[in-house]
Amino acid sequence: MAKIQSSNCSNNQVAELDALLMAARQQYRSDCQQTLLLAEQALRIAQQQRDAAALAHATLLLGQAHYILSGAETALPILRKALTQAKAIAAHRLAAESLIGIACALQSLGQLHAAFLANLDALQAAILDNALTLYAEAYLGMGNLYVQHNEHSKALHYLALASEWADLSADQDLRCKTRLHLSATLLSLREFSLAYDVLQQAKTFLILPLRRDWQAEIFNYLGLIHVEQGESSLALDCLQMACKINAEAGFVWGQTVNLLGLGKLSFRLEQPQAALSYLQQALALVDEFQDLYLLQQIHYQLYLIYEAQGDVVRAMMHHIAYHDHYMKLQRQKEYSQFRANDKRRLQNVEMKLKLLSSELEVNQLKQQRHQEVDRLRELESAVYHDGLTGVYNRRALDERLPELLRLTQESQGHLLAIMIDFDHFKQVNDRFSHHIGDVVLRTACELLSKLTRDNDMLARYGGEEFVLIVHHIDAAIANHIAERMRQKIEQFNWADLQTGLHVSISLGCAVWQYGESAEQLLARADKALYAAKHGGRNCVRFAEVDHA
Ligand code: GH3
Ligand code: MG
Ligand code: MG
Repeated sequence: MAKIQSSNCSNNQVAELDALLMAARQQYRSDCQQTLLLAEQALRIAQQQRDAAALAHATLLLGQAHYILSGAETALPILRKALTQAKAIAAHRLAAESLIGIACALQSLGQLHAAFLANLDALQAAILDNALTLYAEAYLGMGNLYVQHNEHSKALHYLALASEWADLSADQDLRCKTRLHLSATLLSLREFSLAYDVLQQAKTFLILPLRRDWQAEIFNYLGLIHVEQGESSLALDCLQMACKINAEAGFVWGQTVNLLGLGKLSFRLEQPQAALSYLQQALALVDEFQDLYLLQQIHYQLYLIYEAQGDVVRAMMHHIAYHDHYMKLQRQKEYSQFRANDKRRLQNVEMKLKLLSSELEVNQLKQQRHQEVDRLRELESAVYHDGLTGVYNRRALDERLPELLRLTQESQGHLLAIMIDFDHFKQVNDRFSHHIGDVVLRTACELLSKLTRDNDMLARYGGEEFVLIVHHIDAAIANHIAERMRQKIEQFNWADLQTGLHVSISLGCAVWQYGESAEQLLARADKALYAAKHGGRNCVRFAEVDHA
């Protein structure tokens, strides 16, 4: 990683800075406040030492700590600053981490589309660094966005990917986290037995006592699964266990959720007194943090129980409270709900994601079977490339051109075929040797390739004849391209290669006509090439428009 340091800074100071950053990072999971202090300290030293990498790192940690301690709005500008700093020194991993932080912050601010894009960018940056844990984090982020959109099957796809990537990394905590999210989504999809298996795996990855809240969550989910499967006493055990862990650790929200679950279950088991007791406890706790959803649920359950007992007054009271919270929640939802076009935009970015995913799969393959992939590449390359010049061969052209034409037709775009033939090439061979002829072909292809764009296709058609396919082009630019190619070859200093050597090419161009086949297009380009040869060589000719 690049370090821009002033020359007078000692090795000691660098070591101290590294140690500070490492300590700040390690403290993050257990004591975020400590991370904040250490990161601030590191930031000051990094500024003094003008250590750009440490500066980006410290800013990132500061942003992450602020996200937990003071919320998304405070954290967002700091994380964005970290991103800018990381990008400036091409520190891809730090950039990816900053982007994941930014995505989380945006998500909690309700900016779902922007959050999704940030996750995509994170994925892209992670690819550059081949950072497995960050792939997992980015997929996790995307999965959670779909959860928020209530699109659980899509969420499942990304969360499963997140779990797979977490498994390839050595990060036990991340394996646990991804599985927790995955199981929650499986529960929403009512895939209870799968969820059960995933939760059992999550249990094995738990880091205790650090993740007691997750442990409680696992018991809570297991409880819900047992409820669904009619295993009441197992369900009761699990929910009580979750409640106990949350109570001991002081996790009030979790405890409230568990008490609500226990209340519902007891009511179902026709134990109204136990149910009332759980729900009253839940109501007392929820008062501390005023979660509208939980409040609504608790009041609804209390209403059901009192109604069943014929206590009309209490039932009415809780029904009113339930309705009240329900309406508040609806208003809040409407307010924060993503707009309709957010969904459409999400679909657009999905396309991009698919491309990235295939890139990731290639990376995965690379990791697992590096050699095979390399060999496969070589073979593929040999099948579709010309051995002498390295450009595509006839087979590649024959296979791809029809497809390119179909795409052009679909997008109502333009496409140009240029047929290129070397002038008096027999003489080059005869006068200077076949070897020099080969070098000319290779050099000329290099020169021509430099004039093409990435998705243009230069192919050896046979002998010293080549075809260039150019997309998105109209006739005026086409002429320009062909003419530049002609000049490039003519003006190259061939005499450097061999005294007395001159090389030129003739070019025949055909702009694809709607509905035309690959053969028809190439035949017209060939006809134009013939005209160029007859017109004195070293020139460009365009094919007639074929009205037949
Ligand atoms: P014209 O201007 O009419 O095209 O004249 P030309 O001499 O180029 O005529 P033609 O296209 O018939 O001849 C092509 C020559 O290119 C014949 C062949 O020996 C030579 N050639 C084809 N492939 C290769 C190759 O891979 N290496 C070398 N050195 N020469 C090749
Ligand atoms: Mg020739
Ligand atoms: Mg020829």
